Amino acid sequence: MKIPQIPLSSPDITEPEIEAVVATLRSPHLSLGPRLTEFEATFTHLTGVEHAVAVSSGTAGLHLAMLALGIGPAHEVIVPSFTFIATANAIRYVGATPVFVDIDPITLNLSPAAVEQTITRRTRAILAVHTFGVPADMPALAAIAKRNNLALIEDACEALGGTIRTTSGIRAVGGFGDIAVFAFYPNKQITTGEGGVIVTRSAELAAHMRSLRNQGRSSSDTWLQHTELGYNYRLSEIACTLGIGQMKRLPEILTRREQIARHYHRELASVTELILPSLEIRNARISWFVYVVRLAKSFTSSDRDLILQNLEQAGIGCGCYFAPIHLQPAYTYLLQSAFLPVTEFVAGRTIALPFFNRIHESQIATVCDALKLAIQRIS
Ligand SMILES: *Cc1c(COP(=O)(O)O)cnc(C)c1O
Repeated sequence: MKIPQIPLSSPDITEPEIEAVVATLRSPHLSLGPRLTEFEATFTHLTGVEHAVAVSSGTAGLHLAMLALGIGPAHEVIVPSFTFIATANAIRYVGATPVFVDIDPITLNLSPAAVEQTITRRTRAILAVHTFGVPADMPALAAIAKRNNLALIEDACEALGGTIRTTSGIRAVGGFGDIAVFAFYPNKQITTGEGGVIVTRSAELAAHMRSLRNQGRSSSDTWLQHTELGYNYRLSEIACTLGIGQMKRLPEILTRREQIARHYHRELASVTELILPSLEIRNARISWFVYVVRLAKSFTSSDRDLILQNLEQAGIGCGCYFAPIHLQPAYTYLLQSAFLPVTEFVAGRTIALPFFNRIHESQIATVCDALKLAIQRIS
């Protein structure tokens, strides 16, 4: 595979962060130490949610959320298909059935009306995703969950630092569900290499997830006492140290990412063949995760694939987020003919463009010129 000159994403790690990691490497604590506590505290601080539990990945966090909420084989969980596969996989890890619901064509998030229509007697939870960092309509989803006695989980893996304006003020993404999960793979807003953090207002759920993260131990004082079947989903002190440094810069990172989105918007605003992501969403602050444009209705998914090929040949990293989960081979077992017209329509026309903190304006110009040229070629 040719390495693109302008990558799709790229981590942003500073010298002080590298030095901090080296200092941890020289310390006696490489797991379950002071950096874990400090990293977790940055999340209670950011979200205003009382308890934070750091884990080895966002996927591990979603798995623990399902377990802690007692979701199992008898249950259905409502989830979008237009998301990263880990969201739905977590439901399957506990033997429950994902039930896919269509999305809003503007926010690309779960449509609350469609969610309400999909609830059955087996429905146990709604797993909402803040897709591409655009906050989902959590006040509406929380009301539906409450009316129907369902658990509400936020997959906030793409939306660190996003906020929602409610009747009671501005609230952070992650503070609406019974449990919310953030993730730090290298393409996310901040990275720990691999990692995740779960937040919850429930002391009981937090204690349970801490135990499950650590082989089902009731506490680290009783190293060989295991209360229940647990996992090794711990996050190392090395990763936590990097996370602490990254979290310190979160405000500037979010500002920078928003600037990049605005820059792309200016460069592409006149291209009538494209639908650009909205810069503003009603009552919410977007935490820009990726910059995904969509081709207009007159284009097909093979047109899109040709454009992606063209961009790749020009040395530009690009992607087609997301391939809907209900169409993945790993999900054909469901045999449920999900009718998700918006999901399928949108997914066939997306083009994710290079998007990372240190992208230069001249690189954005190069990407936009190559995209315009590729569109002209097929029109
Ligand atoms: C990144 C991501 C996850 C978690 O990914 P990990 O690689 O396991 O950290 C989960 N859901 C969504 C929507 C994501 O984008």
